[in-house]
Amino acid sequence: SSTAADGVRVSATSADLDARAHRTLPGGVNSNVRLAAPKLYFERGEGARLYDVDGNEYIDYLLGQGPNILGHAPAKLQADVAAAVSSGMLFGAQHEAEVRAAERVVEILGWPDMVRFGVSGTESVQAALRLARAATGKRRFIRFEGQYHGWLDNTLANWDAEGNALVAGAGQIADYLRDFVPTPWNDLAAVRERLETHDDIAAIITEPIMLNAGSIPPEDGYLQGLRALADEFGVVLIFDEVITGFRVGLGGAAERYGVTPDLAVYGKAIAAGWPVSALAGRRDLMERFGTGEVNHSGTFNASVMATAAVLSATGILQETSPYARMEEYGRSLQELIRAAAAKHDLPLHVQGVPMAFHVSFSGGRTLKDNRDILACDAPRYAALSRELIRHGVWVAARGVWYISAAHSDAELADTEERVDRAFAAHA
Ligand code: PLP
Repeated sequence: SSTAADGVRVSATSADLDARAHRTLPGGVNSNVRLAAPKLYFERGEGARLYDVDGNEYIDYLLGQGPNILGHAPAKLQADVAAAVSSGMLFGAQHEAEVRAAERVVEILGWPDMVRFGVSGTESVQAALRLARAATGKRRFIRFEGQYHGWLDNTLANWDAEGNALVAGAGQIADYLRDFVPTPWNDLAAVRERLETHDDIAAIITEPIMLNAGSIPPEDGYLQGLRALADEFGVVLIFDEVITGFRVGLGGAAERYGVTPDLAVYGKAIAAGWPVSALAGRRDLMERFGTGEVNHSGTFNASVMATAAVLSATGILQETSPYARMEEYGRSLQELIRAAAAKHDLPLHVQGVPMAFHVSFSGGRTLKDNRDILACDAPRYAALSRELIRHGVWVAARGVWYISAAHSDAELADTEERVDRAFAAHA
């Protein structure tokens, strides 16, 4: 066992793999999001726990960045996908399960008429924006400071404290940032002002609960207000439910807040860990794909694996309805973190929906928008997250904690003891 440069304990095994990885994988990773995390190598996940190659066990509150809503390696999901895939993987044509998967998603969500499956949230967001542009004949969209809609040029941004969107890295085409009108979250007057002063708006796209920066629920009436403004100005309302869908309730945020978008993008929890996304929406919009007017393509869309995973995951979620239990677990976990913070004199702030909440050094403030988030002491929280990881609690450096249906009393008790020791070590 040794200590890596960032202070995280790694055994020779993770360290060796990391050194080896750097020779053939840029940064040793396959997603830049992972550059910020300790370079641990996991060999196994089971339920709510992860096991690294160094012999350490972790309670997992990252859940693969959200998808593993049933925990790791859920036996029925794995068996259902394995059974389906024994008959083939891709046909370059249709198969029955994709019809059933679409019917299932439409039935669960209630409001949409049609679905198109994809592989990643990033690409299904692009399909939604393209539909909105086709339907309105306009180009730009209103989006909110700090929200994330994938890594492509017209959505990716770094935000400054004045709400300006900047390219997130070299090679990104800065011109494409002009496709969106940056707007502060939870501020209906700002949205109205943008709609009144720009006549080229095709859509409003929003995470219905702000979850990529913090965990900031919509204020009372906010989503309803966006709905009304979209109708008044004839723009398409798109919910990016990639995190919230099938997580904050079976019907996602649309159901939780009782607001119906025109289009919504799903990913992550929809297939409980298998790579699947979906764009769902009203027939008059979605049929533009069907007539060929608007192009949406993809070699791997609605593969046998994807559709089997959607059917199995959504079936399990329907049958077991874990949401009340997840909500209760999340609430207990929030309380436990607050109590440990008080005990160790850490000025931690905990907020957000229990199945995806956010912990920060906010200076005692409740976070209402991205500017509040930017004012938090992020380096201090990142240091605390490394301490938590050292003590067997796998969390993201950016402060979000995800709950799965597999988290139970045993995990809560172990978390309490580990958080206490991690906070003591940090304080
Ligand atoms: N939209 C939101 C709200 C997300 O959280 C993410 C991913 O974190 C995406 C879109 C992009 O999804 P993917 O990483 O599957 O491309």
